[in-house]
Amino acid sequence: MQFTEVVGQSLLKTHFIEEIRRNHFAHAKLLVGSDGFGTLALSLAYARYIFCENKSDIDSCNSCSSCKKMSILQHPDLHFAFPTILADKKLSSGMLPKWREKIFEDPYFDINQWTHHIDPSKGRKPLIGTDESLEIINALSLKSYEGGYKIMLIWGVDQMNESCANKLLKILEEPPSHTLFLLTATNLDFLLPTILSRTQLVRVPRISSEDLQQYLEEKLQIGPQNAHSIVSLSDGNLITAKSLIDQHQSDDNLHLFIDLMRAAYLKDPIKMIQWAETIGSQTKEQQTRFLQYGLHLLRQSLLKNYSLNNIVALSKHENDFLSNFAQFITGKNIVNFHELFNKSHYYIERNGNAKIIFTNLSFDTMRYLVK
Ligand SMILES: [Zn+2]
Repeated sequence: MQFTEVVGQSLLKTHFIEEIRRNHFAHAKLLVGSDGFGTLALSLAYARYIFCENKSDIDSCNSCSSCKKMSILQHPDLHFAFPTILADKKLSSGMLPKWREKIFEDPYFDINQWTHHIDPSKGRKPLIGTDESLEIINALSLKSYEGGYKIMLIWGVDQMNESCANKLLKILEEPPSHTLFLLTATNLDFLLPTILSRTQLVRVPRISSEDLQQYLEEKLQIGPQNAHSIVSLSDGNLITAKSLIDQHQSDDNLHLFIDLMRAAYLKDPIKMIQWAETIGSQTKEQQTRFLQYGLHLLRQSLLKNYSLNNIVALSKHENDFLSNFAQFITGKNIVNFHELFNKSHYYIERNGNAKIIFTNLSFDTMRYLVK
């Protein structure tokens, strides 16, 4: 993660770069703000900039040996601590592969997404436990490998238990030379005053609307109008913005699915052809996503139809639609639908003519959709 990859936050970036270049920065920095504002991304960029052997006025170089180690999160002088499921793993070091995997996937994540990543089935609350303090102290007592700074990045210090925090007070107050603590927290209320008093507080603000809009349009290819409405609901939080995009896409697919089923039910060939033209003009990626989504809704309809409501995972809009529609999906036609959607997926993947594939799909849907 380089500063240029951090969304927005130009004031903070300039400030950080300046203080590092002047070699005048606090030995323990606490970045406070929502995860979706970029606290972790900024910390990673900060660490990388410090380690970089060839930094410019704007960013780390991205090509020196330190930058290369940082880009795979394997720099020997960068240490991590973060909340874990204490019943499984008491120490962050036991979860480093999962941690790296999550950052590579997207360095903007919150504690709920982290929990889902490390404990998907049980969803137990992750914490930084007492034993972590000794690991932190040990890691920092070693000499730095590269002869420069040792950095301890603690993500979610507001999820640290009190006894761990108390054990860190001394090292926070009098750290070994060339040691830097980068701590992040979302909420000041859960932080012990003793930690607060020993760190330099940096408030990470919301991402500005302009920066978020630009990112959504340029990096995520969201149309200007959609991007504008997502920005207005996101409160400067990139994680919120991304979840709204996901929701948006599944809403779009739900509408496409409803239009298909209506046209097929009414046996209206003009509407079916119009539908095929609409989806036929979308990107291949959107088309395959629709087909997967369609399969998912058909399966859910069957479950609902057999009154297995408790295992049906649906949004409110989907549920409203399926409460009428499910009756049309039975043990008889589900196999046909399954084959139809899979076959269409197969042809789309192999660059078949999308308009023809979807026209056939709509006519076959009409044949199978009998009560
Ligand atoms: Zn570099």
